[in-house]
Amino acid sequence: MLFSITIGNGYHIPRMFSRNIATLIKGTELANKIKSEVRNELINIRQTKPEFEPQFVAIAIGNNPASSIYLQRKQEAASYCGLKSKVIHFEDTISQKSLIDVINHTNKDPSIHGIIVQLPLPNHLCETTICNAVHPSKDVDGFTQTNLGKLMQKMSDSNMIPCTALAVKKIIESEGIETYGKTAVVIGRSHNVGLPIAIILGADKQKGGFDMTTVSCHRATPNETLASVCRNADIIVSAAGVPGLVDKTMVKPGACLIDVGLNRVKSETGKDIVRGDFNKNVSQVDCRLTPVPGGVGPCTVAFLMYNTLLAAKLQAGIMNQAE
Ligand code: ADP
Repeated sequence: MLFSITIGNGYHIPRMFSRNIATLIKGTELANKIKSEVRNELINIRQTKPEFEPQFVAIAIGNNPASSIYLQRKQEAASYCGLKSKVIHFEDTISQKSLIDVINHTNKDPSIHGIIVQLPLPNHLCETTICNAVHPSKDVDGFTQTNLGKLMQKMSDSNMIPCTALAVKKIIESEGIETYGKTAVVIGRSHNVGLPIAIILGADKQKGGFDMTTVSCHRATPNETLASVCRNADIIVSAAGVPGLVDKTMVKPGACLIDVGLNRVKSETGKDIVRGDFNKNVSQVDCRLTPVPGGVGPCTVAFLMYNTLLAAKLQAGIMNQAE
């Protein structure tokens, strides 16, 4: 791209601007592969067990337009995989007790194998209490204390791992990235996203982790510290929800950048667009990068399908729960 720089006397001289040399990691390809594996496995199981009909219920509170889009993606993916899905909507005035009653009722319904509570919740509802009301065997988001606790001990194939963390895990595996003894930075420490990702990256390979030296950054991390730890990192995962937080000066050549940020911003022409946590200029570094959109997002949805099938298999005794 032709670019110009201004020199002291006001003249503009053109120069060649750095090219985009980063390699894009196509999340949609991995997502399609996972969804077709779920679909094929379900077809196989149903040949001998036609009564096996995995179903998830998504509980949506209020009218958040972003949530509606995610719900639609989940339902489309379910329909592709052959899973049943249902959305239950409530006004944002629903009380905590009423919501917990609904979750308890759904916990007892044998035709429902997975329960998703669409986040964020209105302020009067306690996210931790609501997420923990879901029975761990139906917790396909992996947000309960039980499933997050299991993640600390082991990442086995029968664990319900939070879908975004599982997506990040599988992206790293499918890219064949060398991780042993390398350095990772995770930006964001939420219980549902940043923290489980940091646990997986830092865990022992014997337990399903990546043996990385992992630095967790968050709101209290000074900018200079964030920049300096990122500059040393072989993998940077950003789940902060801050558009353009990490730029090219913070990225070392050869690094793998995984963008979990999904930020709605206005384009220069006033259009609503989606941007990640990485500045577009990181493409000028010789690195690997998940795009936004089309990177982690579709994989998160695909792993929700994977977890729903897993939950249904465990509930039907088709697969055994690991220790
Ligand atoms: P999510 O559920 O997607 O992880 P949250 O809003 O719950 O989103 O969490 C955002 C995380 O990002 C928090 O852990 C917060 O500390 C971190 N964060 C927010 N802003 C910054 C920032 N400027 N620098 C580093 N971390 C940040």
